[in-house]
Order: sequence, then structure tokens, then C-alpha cells
Amino acid sequence: MSDCLFCKIIAGEIPSAKVYEDELVYAFKDINPIAPVHILIIPKQHISKLEDVNAENSAVISHIFEVAAILSKQLGLKNGFRIVSNCGEDAGQTVFHIHFHLLAGRKLGWEEQ
Ligand code: AMP
Ligand code: ZN
Repeated sequence: MSDCLFCKIIAGEIPSAKVYEDELVYAFKDINPIAPVHILIIPKQHISKLEDVNAENSAVISHIFEVAAILSKQLGLKNGFRIVSNCGEDAGQTVFHIHFHLLAGRKLGWEEQ
């Protein structure tokens, strides 16, 4: 998707602070962190949102959770972490390339972003 911000980040056209990459997935620091650890994990394949996950593309989503587990160990997140994927307007999705926020490093309330 030529006009997608996160596709441009994957292509290296927009700079990002990379924390992990493999053939399927890219992970980088959120530009506006809401926690001491705030990483976005995204598939290299353009999927707009969680609603568009299906039998054909869901393998990469399960891989994203494997990557989250790898990163949690690499980063030593012994006190835990949270994965969030905002889907659509009510959830506050602002970038329409599916992404999983990995949040950690402080106590996380339930009613927050
Ligand atoms: P969401 O609101 O769930 O769609 O999340 C989009 C996230 O992308 C927000 O947390 C933004 O801070 C983050 N973001 C937007 N632009 C960039 C960028 N260029 N580099 C890193 N993170 C970004
Ligand atoms: Zn994209």
C-alpha cells in the first residue's frame, strides 16, 4: 500500500527505531509512548485492521504473538506486559495497518488508551 505510513516504515522510507525484524514481522518503538516500554509489532503484509484477519492471513498474527513472547524475554519484562490492537473508530485506531502495541514498564490501568 503506497500511501500507508507503516508500509513506508517497513520499506525504510520513513525512519523508525527498530527493535525486531524477520521475514514476516517488523517491530519498532512507538513515537508517542504511553509506557516506559511501548513497541508496535506489525506484519510486513498490509492488513488494515483486526476485522480483516481471516483464514488466509492469520498465520502472521499468531507469529506476532510469538514475537511478543520473544521480545518480552529479550527485554526482561518480568513484571508483565500488555498487547493491545485497536480496531476501528470507537477503539481509537489511527493507523490503518494492523498493529499490536506491546506495553510494559509500569502498572497499567484498565480504562486507559
Ligand atoms: P493506534 O492509535 O492504535 O492506531 O496506534 C497508532 C500508533 O502509531 C500510535 O500509538 C502512534 O503514536 C504511533 N505512530 C504514529 N506514527 C508513528 C511513527 N512514525 N513512528 C512510530 N510510531 C508512530
Ligand atoms: Zn500498510
